[in-house]
Amino acid sequence: MRVAIIGAGLSGLACAHELERLGIFPDVFEERSRPGELFPHVGGILQIMNRPVRNQLEFLKKEYHLQAKPLSAWKKITMHAPSVTRVVKSRNFGYFFERGQGSSSLETQLANSIKSRITFNCRANYSELAKEYDYVVVATGNRAVAATLGIWKDTFTTMVRGAVVLGKFNTEELIMWVNTDYALGAYAYLTAFSPDRGSLVLIHANTSPEDMERHWTTFLKKERLEYQVVESFLLSHIAGTVYPHQVGNILLVGAAGGFMESFLGFGAVSSMRSGVLAARAMVKGQPFAKVSDKLDQEMRRSVRLREILNTMKNEDYDRLVATATFPIMKHINYNTNLPVLNFAGNILELVRASVDWEKKSILPPVPENPHKK
Ligand SMILES: Cc1cc2nc3c(=O)[nH]c(=O)nc-3n(C[C@H](O)[C@H](O)[C@H](O)COP(=O)(O)OP(=O)(O)OC[C@H]3O[C@@H](n4cnc5c(N)ncnc54)[C@H](O)[C@@H]3O)c2cc1C
Repeated sequence: MRVAIIGAGLSGLACAHELERLGIFPDVFEERSRPGELFPHVGGILQIMNRPVRNQLEFLKKEYHLQAKPLSAWKKITMHAPSVTRVVKSRNFGYFFERGQGSSSLETQLANSIKSRITFNCRANYSELAKEYDYVVVATGNRAVAATLGIWKDTFTTMVRGAVVLGKFNTEELIMWVNTDYALGAYAYLTAFSPDRGSLVLIHANTSPEDMERHWTTFLKKERLEYQVVESFLLSHIAGTVYPHQVGNILLVGAAGGFMESFLGFGAVSSMRSGVLAARAMVKGQPFAKVSDKLDQEMRRSVRLREILNTMKNEDYDRLVATATFPIMKHINYNTNLPVLNFAGNILELVRASVDWEKKSILPPVPENPHKK
């Protein structure tokens, strides 16, 4: 069986890794000269996103045969809402990973774990490859192919402004800011590569590059952040849902296949999972839709959470941060294994004080597949 994978990002590399394990050596095409995003940053994988999984690294190793070394364990979160600041600590919020093209980045680690040939500096065309190969895996990290195939629906658009900064940092901590004055429908966060090198990121919904610079300046000024900036980046990101995830012999994985948790924009674990599931579907000759159905449902549920987040006001954020750190909530959120995201829609709506008691149900339903309407 001949398989072409377009994109040596997390989903494409995870797919190649699983194919190799099943005896197939794909051809991987990557338009950049190395694996990984062009800008370095520190990303987290958050335990709460994958409950009842207790430890995502063990889960990825056991269920998906993927192994990677994190920068550090994630043990502390400092949350800044406009008028409320709270700190929570736990033995295991998750892990921090270096992202980008560095020698320890998650992408570099995955690339080093495969034997298949990666052809760099090659912008591949999916329709050409589909004629030549038995399967083509689209792992391009963007909506272009799915939109051309007519199977993509936008869910939200954000602008991301980030920087590598110098200062003093706790490598086990994530500091988060929620404030509509500069991060409408999203948030800002600080993580650390090392005790003296940090990664500062601001995300804002639907804005222009010019306005994003203004939001960045407001953010730094308002939060009195005076770090020395050594590297900066700006990018726009369009997230969406995809249905179906397979058209003929073309399978779409990772962000290109809509496998991204819309709630907080976490896509690392879901991208790798979708890549592995695509490999299994191809080798076993099963429809990818069937193999990835559970993951797909998780993604759709997170879209609903994001929709609520998009309407939050500053007073809602104050209430949310205060509520999330009530002793009972703290215990449920951080010391149990309960799948709190299943209830999160209700909690967010309660916090937003726009609750319609008549219509409430305990478990939020998985939203309808928008592509089926
Ligand atoms: C600033 C930032 C912070 C983030 N933080 C987190 C976080 O903390 N936790 C988390 O879980 N997720 C995070 N994410 C999201 C996560 O990084 C993505 O969901 C994930 O990388 C998507 O993986 P992917 O394989 O789908 O795409 P990508 O990793 O984007 O890889 C796609 C690859 O395809 C290549 N490519 C594209 N088109 C072609 C073509 N035609 N031919 C050849 N190659 C092509 C690209 O060059 C790229 O290398 C963050 C994202 C950003 C931008």
